[in-house]
Amino acid sequence: MFDNLTEKFDTVFKKLRGRGRLSEENIKDALREVRLVLLEADVNFRVVKDFIAAVRDRALGQDVLKSLTPAQQVIKIVREELARLMGEGEANALDLAARPPVPVMLCGLQGAGKTTTCGKLALSLRRQKRNPLLVPADIYRPAAIEQLKTVGRQINVEVFDSQPGQDPVKICEAARAYAELNGFDTLILDTAGRLHIDSELMQELVRIRDSLEPREILFVADAMTGQDAVNVAESFNQVLDISGVILTKLDGDARGGAALSIRAVTGKPIKLVGMGEKLDALEVFHPDRMAQRILG
Ligand code: GDP
Repeated sequence: MFDNLTEKFDTVFKKLRGRGRLSEENIKDALREVRLVLLEADVNFRVVKDFIAAVRDRALGQDVLKSLTPAQQVIKIVREELARLMGEGEANALDLAARPPVPVMLCGLQGAGKTTTCGKLALSLRRQKRNPLLVPADIYRPAAIEQLKTVGRQINVEVFDSQPGQDPVKICEAARAYAELNGFDTLILDTAGRLHIDSELMQELVRIRDSLEPREILFVADAMTGQDAVNVAESFNQVLDISGVILTKLDGDARGGAALSIRAVTGKPIKLVGMGEKLDALEVFHPDRMAQRILG
């Protein structure tokens, strides 16, 4: 994960460590290099600017320059600020504390990994002794309903019976009534995606949100698409006021831009990450561990 980014940070920090005592100029040079590393990783330029300013302010503090291991101090500051950028110190667990059945809505563009992630989430909740019901609310692509049914069979989680062409809001409402009657405590809503944002889709998602009042509205973002994922997340957030992000395909060779920018741009935390195509490849996101991993 983010191998390229890790390698480049390593090169910058090796140079810094090789210097012994550091001058202000040494630190400024290193930060110029860090800036380039982040921009090359497709991190949003405003995010990079604020990040570098925060690290510079702390690193140029007298204590760092006077310390016995100034390079170590600078690296520690970079690590801490990376973690902060990704939401360190915030609650990023799913909040399902509501009267059951608790609706959790997944949204995002086609191909981001929504349907797969619905399955992963269902499996993870089952392992936490919850009883989820999968709800196919993408009525435009019959294949999407079939795909969710296949996923449900694989993990032995029931999929609400919906048909192509039904109103997605009606499907979700019927699923809620069905869940109440049959003891399901969580509804996982697999909503429609498109190749691009369009207002019709957004209005449909708003109607589902207003009717079901989901406890969590999770934007599913493909980490491989970098800044595009961040921009789309921000558009969804503006319309839907999402509660968090699930970042998929972190097992691939994503450059890191989405992971490092999405929290700062949207103001919403990354809650979970997809680490593979298998249905157990879903992990809780830990900003500090991610920062540690990125720095190698
Ligand atoms: P949807 O259109 O948003 O519902 O996306 P799908 O769930 O159909 O996923 C699109 C593709 O991405 C499928 O081939 C999935 O197997 C794949 N996929 C989803 N999540 C991950 C992930 O975390 N890692 C990898 N490598 N592939 C993923």
